Amino acid sequence: MEDPRSIFTMIIQGEIPCHKVYEDDLIFAFLDINPSSPGHTLVVPKEPARSLDELSDDSAQAIGRALPRISKAVLEATGASEFNVIQNNGPNAFQSVFHVHFHIIPKMEDGRGLTFPFNPSSIDHEDGARLSSSIRDLLSSPPSQ
Ligand code: AMP
Repeated sequence: MEDPRSIFTMIIQGEIPCHKVYEDDLIFAFLDINPSSPGHTLVVPKEPARSLDELSDDSAQAIGRALPRISKAVLEATGASEFNVIQNNGPNAFQSVFHVHFHIIPKMEDGRGLTFPFNPSSIDHEDGARLSSSIRDLLSSPPSQ
């Protein structure tokens, strides 16, 4: 039978090797095996949520605390002064490992790092008013966990 655990859970549990950079009760961070630039780091909650919208408040809080600290260390270790943090959810949104993770990707002076086109368009204000109102309403009701 196929192991239901994600590859990141196996890394966290020490069954698959990694270049670990940080661990606490709720968070684990290690270097990406296919880095976009030196120091490309993955910050992963130990909780095996598949996507960010499924993550508990406790893990979200721990990720929020860890990201700036780990980013600072990655910058210092690589000599980069700029970086991207990116987080993908769902196969069409470029997620390939279905266990929440944040990429910290240093942007090097020679261009190495994240390159992607944003595809901006002009906001439709009627649509914007409707959507922002709907999101506000959803956020003002108690979480359904
Ligand atoms: P995403 O496409 O956002 O789901 O990113 C998944 C990332 O996990 C990719 O950048 C992979 O290179 C990385 N990855 C997959 N397997 C491993 C592994 N065993 N060790 C380190 N990074 C990995």
